[in-house]
Amino acid sequence: MSGSPKRLSIQEMDLLCRRQEAEGAPMAAYDGPLQRHVADGDRRLLHLEFDDSAAALRLWNFLLTEEDRLHQARAAGTKIVGTMKDLGTVPVMAYSLPDVIAFYPDGAWWTPCVMELSAGLLGLAQSLGVGEAFCPVRAMLGAFVNRAHFPIPDLLTCSVGATCDDFSAIAQRLESLGFPILWWEMPHRRRPDPGEPAVVLPGGFTAPESQVALVRSELERVGAALQTLAGARLGDGELAAGIREANRVRSLLADLRRLAYTAEPCPMPALEMLIAEMLAIHFCSDRAESVAVLNGLLDEIKRRTDDGQGVLPKGAARVFWVNPVADLRAMNLLEDCGGRLCGTEFLFSHALDPIPEDLPPMEALARMALADPMVGPSADRAGRIVRDARVFGAEAVVVSRIPGASHCALEGAVIAEIVRTELDLPVVELEVPPVVDPMLPTLRTRLEAIAETVLKRRNV
Ligand code: SF4
Repeated sequence: MSGSPKRLSIQEMDLLCRRQEAEGAPMAAYDGPLQRHVADGDRRLLHLEFDDSAAALRLWNFLLTEEDRLHQARAAGTKIVGTMKDLGTVPVMAYSLPDVIAFYPDGAWWTPCVMELSAGLLGLAQSLGVGEAFCPVRAMLGAFVNRAHFPIPDLLTCSVGATCDDFSAIAQRLESLGFPILWWEMPHRRRPDPGEPAVVLPGGFTAPESQVALVRSELERVGAALQTLAGARLGDGELAAGIREANRVRSLLADLRRLAYTAEPCPMPALEMLIAEMLAIHFCSDRAESVAVLNGLLDEIKRRTDDGQGVLPKGAARVFWVNPVADLRAMNLLEDCGGRLCGTEFLFSHALDPIPEDLPPMEALARMALADPMVGPSADRAGRIVRDARVFGAEAVVVSRIPGASHCALEGAVIAEIVRTELDLPVVELEVPPVVDPMLPTLRTRLEAIAETVLKRRNV
């Protein structure tokens, strides 16, 4: 590639793909033109812009072939675990067993966006009594019922207790439709009482030892079910090896995030970083390949930073983004408005932190699970956002609300107040629906305003 990289249309990405093929460049078996996914219904790709690299092409193809991968796994006799809600814990256990893979049916959250509402999943959920009062995760219900997306898992697990009302209600509705679920309890993480035995969790929160012990016993119950499914032992050795592999992914992501969110000019677009971070939670159904994909991205970012190249002009406003966006296009929009990503909290920061390797493995996993930012007080979550925004040098914070999400109504205000008080940064809250097009003018105005505010503050 010559010249500075930029964001490409899908047509330009497919030219890049054809060049790769013509040059005989090494490509993964699932690589190929992105437009074939549009033919399968992924119409949102037509309205996105992508990073100008073979590494990004591979990332997108890896993401967009996940359902094929799951169906191939089913055909090959691999056991499939549908892990719901914990975002990053049970998959570490599942991938520690032979011939078992795990994925989050919750990922159907993005199907209304990627297929531009053409799959009818939200309507199907509505017909089952789960309407617009719920967040887009209700699409998962439709995907289970119409069986047109992922294969029905051999085992379904779901954390319950400190779970948002949306997910709790939808998972119960799922079970009532005849999909048995192994529920496991996640207590609401509380601050230890004075003198109460406590531990510091990965990522820095603290929790009473008694809560860690409860989560550990629950995970042991999940582990027993996984062993039965796999017909294989999940002992400390196997789990420790699984944790080391998960940490490889987390360590690659830590390097990627550090460079992508701090290098000037910005070496990787926000959209690709969002997708890359998502690989942490269940490895996009292929743990080894997710390592290869992330290595490719990291090489690309290192090369660009060494060459002083970026995908955006120097000086873009440095924005820390809170919550995943229901429409991926919002990530492009941030950059169109003069911003760049400079740190994120996409609801799963516990899936990015290294899992301790110097503890009994189930204890380590229990501590990591309890570090989930969504199972404790919003003030804890805000504290983590403040700390990370400081580390990455953010100049503004965007809290993107998720339509219908039960945790969003007040949480954004709590986070905004703490960020303003502790960091004196401008904060904007905005809502991103699964397809933002009708709201583009409003969103654009608000994102431009935050970018302009940042630039003005630099000059004061
Ligand atoms: S309400 Fe929030 S945490 Fe719950 S399923 Fe929806 S997006 Fe996820």
